[in-house]
Amino acid sequence: MTQGMGGFGSLKSLQIIGDAEQPLAAPVGQPVAVAPDEGRTEAKVIIVGSGPAGLTAAIYAARANLAPIVLGGYEAGGQLMITSEVENFPGFPEGIQGPELMDRMRAQAARFGALLVDVDVERVDFSARPFRLWAAGVEYTAQSVIVASGASAIWLDIESETRLRGRGVSACATCDGFFFRDRKVIVVGGGDSALEEALFLTNFASEVVMVHRRDQFRGSRIMQGRALAHPKIRVAWNSQVVEVLGDQKVTGVRLRDTVTGDERDEPADGVFVAIGHRPNTGVFRDWLEVDPKGYLTVHGETATRVDGVFVAGDVRDHRYRQAVTAAGDGCRAAIDAERWLAEHELAERATASAW
Ligand code: NAP
Repeated sequence: MTQGMGGFGSLKSLQIIGDAEQPLAAPVGQPVAVAPDEGRTEAKVIIVGSGPAGLTAAIYAARANLAPIVLGGYEAGGQLMITSEVENFPGFPEGIQGPELMDRMRAQAARFGALLVDVDVERVDFSARPFRLWAAGVEYTAQSVIVASGASAIWLDIESETRLRGRGVSACATCDGFFFRDRKVIVVGGGDSALEEALFLTNFASEVVMVHRRDQFRGSRIMQGRALAHPKIRVAWNSQVVEVLGDQKVTGVRLRDTVTGDERDEPADGVFVAIGHRPNTGVFRDWLEVDPKGYLTVHGETATRVDGVFVAGDVRDHRYRQAVTAAGDGCRAAIDAERWLAEHELAERATASAW
């Protein structure tokens, strides 16, 4: 079983540049394929993260002639890579698969000259400019940085869950639901993620039991309505998973009633954990402020306490956490970074038409 999906194909090894200001070998308006500058490690702006926030920042920065480098992470694409149907991103009235939406954003960023490198940033030094970032043994330098490293799934953090990950325990129904055709599965959580996972799993599973620690869901009314009306979904209210059962593979869960304390076993073939996300701030904590929930703090709109470092998306937002709000945030951060670079005479001011 997998925890993420790829699917960027040739985009990794090719940049498509279609800007009218590039010397074109093809008719105007036709994109031209050029060999990517794979070895480039210096940029006016480096973007950390390749979800909707990072890639929108890349599109805007690239169109402002900043030739950004995107350090996109080994699980490039962010949470939408493990999302099924996205029905609320404007412009897609029929909906679009999360990975396809990310493929399109990636192609759009590459088209304008962003260099996309799918490596995890392991360490940064924001003590002086140029800022320094290390990833996969390579040092990158940048005059400005946009942190858009997103958030990752939270696990229950019990030993049996960790042991059986990939053996029936998953945090990604889109990745692993297929393996549970005509099987019974558990979904843990009561938010929109859990409701979405449960509904998606009804495409495969014979029965889906949602385990929620309270007696009402946190998720949106529309998703609640769909889940509660679905004939394959049953809810175990006021229940907490205290152990995932099974030796080599999942055979069920032990549930504790959160009101009475009683325990009982629920047989199942798979367990999908959907209890929220944690911001990916580890490498930035020595340099940037975080709020009590661990999310990065902004000063003003997208700026941080380090002059020249900006933030965007879920790494700072625990309120909205939507693809469209993250994308909007990425746009704002790129505009702020470009203006900051211009004010510091580190970049020529882009023409208004670049936006
Ligand atoms: P969430 O809203 O924070 O919900 C997390 C759920 O997991 C809550 O029901 C919580 O229980 C439960 N939980 C947390 N820790 C737990 C633990 N240790 N053991 C058992 N249960 C635990 O997270 P989310 O569902 O990932 O959603 C995050 C945001 O993304 C929300 O704003 C949501 O609307 C949005 N979202 C939207 C869509 C969509 O529109 N299609 C899809 C997914 C997510 P309590 O309720 O008791 O706290």
